[in-house]
Amino acid sequence: MHKTVLDTMEETIWLAKWPDQTFVYISPSIVEFLGYTPDDFYKNSSVFHEIIDPRDLDFVVSALRNLPELKKTVLEFRITHKNGTRKWVGARLKLVEIDGESYINGIAYDIQNRKITEIESNKHSAFLQKVIDTVPDLLFVRDAGGRFVIANKAVAKWYNTSLDNLIGKTDYDFNPNKKEVNHFLAGDRRVLETGKEYIINEEKITHPDGSAYWTKTRKRPICNDHGLRLVLGLATNVTETKNIQLKLERQNQLKELLLHLATRFINAQPDQIPDRINEALAKIGTYIQADRVYILEYLYDEEITKNTYEWCNENISPQIHLLQAFPLKDMQEWVDIHWQNQEVHYPNVAELPDGPIKAILQKQGIQSLITIPIIPNQYCYGSIGFDFVRHIHDSSNEELEILRLFASMLAKVYDSENVQKEMSGYRERIDAILNEMPGSIWSVNWPEKDTLYFSPSAEKLYGRPMSEIAGNSDVSFEFTHPEDKEKMEYAMQEVLEKGFSQAEYRMLKGDGSYIWINTKMQAVKENGKIVRVHGTDVDITQQKEAEALLQQAKSSAEFASRAKSQFLANMSHELRTPLTSILGFSETLESTTLDKDQTKMLDYIIVSANALKEIVGNILDIAKIEAGKFDLYPKSFNVHKLIKQTASMIQYQVDKKRINLVLKIEKNIPNLFLDPIRLQQVLLNLLSNAVKFTDKGSITVTAKTTCRDPLCVYFEVADTGIGISEDYQELIFQQFQQVDGSSTRKYGGVGLGLTICSEILNMMDSKIFLQSKENAGSTFYFTVCSPESNTKEEGATKINIPVSENVYNILFAEDDMTNIFVLNHFLKKILPNSRIIETNNGRQALNNLSDDIDLVIMDLNMPVMDGWTAAAIMRVSRPDLPIIAVTAAADDESVQKAYDAGCFDCLTKPYSLVSLATVIKKWLVL
Ligand code: ADP
Repeated sequence: MHKTVLDTMEETIWLAKWPDQTFVYISPSIVEFLGYTPDDFYKNSSVFHEIIDPRDLDFVVSALRNLPELKKTVLEFRITHKNGTRKWVGARLKLVEIDGESYINGIAYDIQNRKITEIESNKHSAFLQKVIDTVPDLLFVRDAGGRFVIANKAVAKWYNTSLDNLIGKTDYDFNPNKKEVNHFLAGDRRVLETGKEYIINEEKITHPDGSAYWTKTRKRPICNDHGLRLVLGLATNVTETKNIQLKLERQNQLKELLLHLATRFINAQPDQIPDRINEALAKIGTYIQADRVYILEYLYDEEITKNTYEWCNENISPQIHLLQAFPLKDMQEWVDIHWQNQEVHYPNVAELPDGPIKAILQKQGIQSLITIPIIPNQYCYGSIGFDFVRHIHDSSNEELEILRLFASMLAKVYDSENVQKEMSGYRERIDAILNEMPGSIWSVNWPEKDTLYFSPSAEKLYGRPMSEIAGNSDVSFEFTHPEDKEKMEYAMQEVLEKGFSQAEYRMLKGDGSYIWINTKMQAVKENGKIVRVHGTDVDITQQKEAEALLQQAKSSAEFASRAKSQFLANMSHELRTPLTSILGFSETLESTTLDKDQTKMLDYIIVSANALKEIVGNILDIAKIEAGKFDLYPKSFNVHKLIKQTASMIQYQVDKKRINLVLKIEKNIPNLFLDPIRLQQVLLNLLSNAVKFTDKGSITVTAKTTCRDPLCVYFEVADTGIGISEDYQELIFQQFQQVDGSSTRKYGGVGLGLTICSEILNMMDSKIFLQSKENAGSTFYFTVCSPESNTKEEGATKINIPVSENVYNILFAEDDMTNIFVLNHFLKKILPNSRIIETNNGRQALNNLSDDIDLVIMDLNMPVMDGWTAAAIMRVSRPDLPIIAVTAAADDESVQKAYDAGCFDCLTKPYSLVSLATVIKKWLVL
């Protein structure tokens, strides 16, 4: 008898002697499973080892060796079918004693599909990590709570931690600068709220070691519709470019300034010279941020020095009157240095040795000082001085060189006869200073667009000789990549309208390759009219390449997110099938005679299985939401009934906790036309939470209309429980968030309920709100609007079991042993007098389809022939036959496919006695 049962099982079961492992029994399903017959194994036990994939052989052999210690084990390994194909199998092994002899008892089953999904999912994650680790910049995916979901090694390195430690945490955990983190997360929120890309072109961020970096950050929503609310970010380090750009800008200003001053001197009439000198002092003083700039004339005959010109910064007192006849001998030291054509440079006056110079400088409040000789024709005419009063200023060599150039320019002014000729030579001297710059500076006059200036470094940047660059009035347009020309025209337009513009474009180098250029342009106006446009060009090719990598990574991240959703969906499918059996058997056991202890244990089993069912359901819902496959099925329903029904589901827990449940439902609310199952899911979740977190007081459910056309109803679930602190109020609507996240926490749950509630309401164009105070209670509320009102309710009518005492012929196809048992049992309760024809796959069901069959129950995923195919074939010969599909997949695609194949209805596993009875009653002609 036992053997007959075993012979019919789909899994392969065997019994072999231990330790020699000679087979005494192996079930016939081995033929379908592996292509070998039981005889093959009886004759030669080593077949078992031969079929194991060599890669897994050691692992299986060592597991067998450890069996005496463990007594039982579960293994997963690869085998080769007799026809040469490979597949993954699972095996449960156990050492048993039968009549004093040791045996090994095994059950093997097919796990090919699950394994493939698992491997694919892992492969994709590993692949994704590899891709993003190749990006040298900071690449991350953060959730709405700022937690890192994905990050590359660069981010971990930035925070001096490991990737494992980073994931799940926020910047707050690593970055002491809270203000900066707030700013980062505000950017994330902006992306999540607008669903649009956000680019922060230049942003200064601080490394944990305190150093500052310039970054360009791009943030994008990864999935914008129903998908994950995540932000994908790439922060590129543009410090080098920025510094070059800053330096270039400064150089550009200086070049403008010097050329401008030179032109002013060239064009000046002799009587205009004093004004021009004053103007020049002001400009150069402002540029180097000095507080005072002055010219001292050395009158050797009178043995005095005289301050002839002075410019003072705002709020700095003039000193010119004090220095009209200062004894030369008191500053002999400076005069000597100046005669040697050298400057006097005191970066910090306070550090000078005590003496008359230090005393006089300190009396004037000077902290740093530079004086440079003015030497026309080898004669020291005097000096130009720069005082820094408000702060210490240490000039760079570069700056000193510029000031020297300026002093020599002044010297030419004093040697007035040669002014015009000398000034024209300045361009070369400016070039010499600017030669080292990696970018290029240019200026064109407007509107003629003649090149006025191109820094010599342009040759290197564009890979073209200066003759080609400077001789071309439209250089940037001619060599601009055709696709970027429009962008450049727009930037040009903008600089004319707004005075400033910038653009990133590709430029054709002399060697035929393209480089990315960042150009910044500025318009110079004279008498309200634009006379010149000048700008800076910097090579940003590397930065652009990093951005292109981001694009790749983005696609991979989306891919991985889909793989994850798929994995979750598959996993919850795998969990649902055994749950059907647990719940089904429990219901069956409940109706048998049990003692007190057994009843109690069964209660626990049912409660736990239901809790597990809810979690699996939630995971599946989340996976569906993330995959954008979560659909609503609106129909008309009565609000009053829905709330009462929902409340009755938690009444038991409410009574147990001795709290009150108050329903305040406005009378005669018209029927709503929405998805009642999903709305009930929201209410049930809020109510379950309310009960869970309330120990005394009451829970109040309110429902009232706020508007009749369109019909809007306000729902509220209020409790007097532990409440939620303000810090957590926004957070708890996110996935896996709980106020108490510790492992020792008091309340169960996984933190998905509110996420699903808020997603469901989101799909109903509504939003959930929360008002709560710690230890005073929480109120969750929302308003839903229905496009139609007063529609007739399509509710389920109460079902009596048994549904009918008549004799019907019910054919079912189901391959899972435990589900077969449950189905048989349920059918006997629903239609006690019927004839039940049990088959295990679509082919068998077709073979048993006679004209007197009244109803078919068809599992969808089955070996040999699946349920969709069988249903479609049946439909041809029996157009009116009710076929009810049963599936654990619950994805809308499988269900839709079932309807397409001709099924009348679809039941999702795990189904209850009542739901099966309801469907049968609906379709059986009673
Ligand atoms: P779960 O209840 O499964 O943990 P939820 O998403 O439904 O997940 O709730 C998330 C968290 O929000 C809970 O763990 C709890 O910390 C808090 N919470 C929800 N509802 C209430 C409530 N009525 N009173 C107090 N805390 C609540």
